[in-house]
Amino acid sequence: MLTADQLLEELLRRARALTQTEAVPVELALGRVLAQPQVSAISVPPLDNSAMDGYAVRAAECVPGARLVVSQRIAAGQVGEALATAGAARIFTGAPVPPGADAVVMQEHCSADGDKVQVHHQPKPGENIRRAGEDIRPGATILPAGMRLGAAAMGLAASVGLTALPVYRRLKVASFSTGNELVQPGTALGAGQIYNSNRYTLAGLVQGLGCEWLDLGSVPDTLAATLAALQHAAALADVVITSGGVSVGEEDHVKAAVEQLGKIDMWKVAMKPGKPLVYGRVGEADFIGLPGNPVSTLVTFALFARPFLLKRMGVVDVLPKTCRVKAAFDWEKPGERREFLRARLQAGQGGELEAQLFHNQSSGVLTSAVWADGLVDIDIGQMVTRGQTVRFIPFSEVLG
Ligand code: AMP
Ligand code: MG
Repeated sequence: MLTADQLLEELLRRARALTQTEAVPVELALGRVLAQPQVSAISVPPLDNSAMDGYAVRAAECVPGARLVVSQRIAAGQVGEALATAGAARIFTGAPVPPGADAVVMQEHCSADGDKVQVHHQPKPGENIRRAGEDIRPGATILPAGMRLGAAAMGLAASVGLTALPVYRRLKVASFSTGNELVQPGTALGAGQIYNSNRYTLAGLVQGLGCEWLDLGSVPDTLAATLAALQHAAALADVVITSGGVSVGEEDHVKAAVEQLGKIDMWKVAMKPGKPLVYGRVGEADFIGLPGNPVSTLVTFALFARPFLLKRMGVVDVLPKTCRVKAAFDWEKPGERREFLRARLQAGQGGELEAQLFHNQSSGVLTSAVWADGLVDIDIGQMVTRGQTVRFIPFSEVLG
């Protein structure tokens, strides 16, 4: 039996980052993984410019009672001329500060008086001026390799004039669910049957990571069918992920199929939900077999398959950011396995977030995962009394 941390370490050691890259337009780069660091060729902002609507002045000339001659008007996109002695420039946010001016006084502190302006505030040199290069200097690395590109990174890339970004190609992830009991939504349920929900959970999880999802549906519990599906999936994809069939029962064929076609590396992890988990290789493809209980599938994907896939995708920082929150519950039975409990956060009396547990923590109850904001992480042997802090893994960090 491995601990969850050991399993993660073993998995990450086996994850080989993609090497193939392609260029994508910046506006289509959302969720893609940057393959090379990006360096700015320019200063941002490119020129000293005004942070306010107001008047560009020489700070030293703004003595009480001073009236400055407004000799020019500079809107964003225009360039002014050098400021005359005792002169001021009407200026607007984003417009370049003219040579000679060393401050901008906001218009609320000025009164226009014909072609002059009275300034009722003596600015400090530099006041309300955004300096050239204060955000980015030429030669600065603006985006590191191995980052997942989000909206802010796309905007930053554009702010230095980039039009396209080198990213790793999309990782191809094939999945199938195992189980004779499974039918697709859209069909009436027969006796003993349930709807295949893991197919949809995996569809969301895989696509949420920005991988290409190859759907192989569901596969009956026979060795022959499992072998065929596995072979097919491994030929199509970089990584094959399955749900169910990884226990040691007579109806569980995944482990045997992986062993027959490739090799298996590990088997059990001391956690709840989700004790059995299989890693293997089939040809060039990695294989991850998740347990079939719907919450186990979700949680083991979130904690293990996700960082594995991220590393395969070329991401450098693959671990979720966790935090500590107050427990709004007691946990009195020290367990032999680490538990990941579905919990919702609510502001307590002092405003700190408190975690409340869903009333049913069974690994079959998928309602718990929709209700919850994340997982309270209880260590082996740990007991908790209400008000103590516990480790919390936000779903926003692990489901996408
Ligand atoms: P298994 O891991 O195959 O032993 O399955 C454990 C439990 O999860 C059983 O109750 C299965 O019926 C259920 N289960 C397995 N696969 C799925 C699936 N794709 N969708 C919904 N429930 C499933
Ligand atoms: Mg099964």
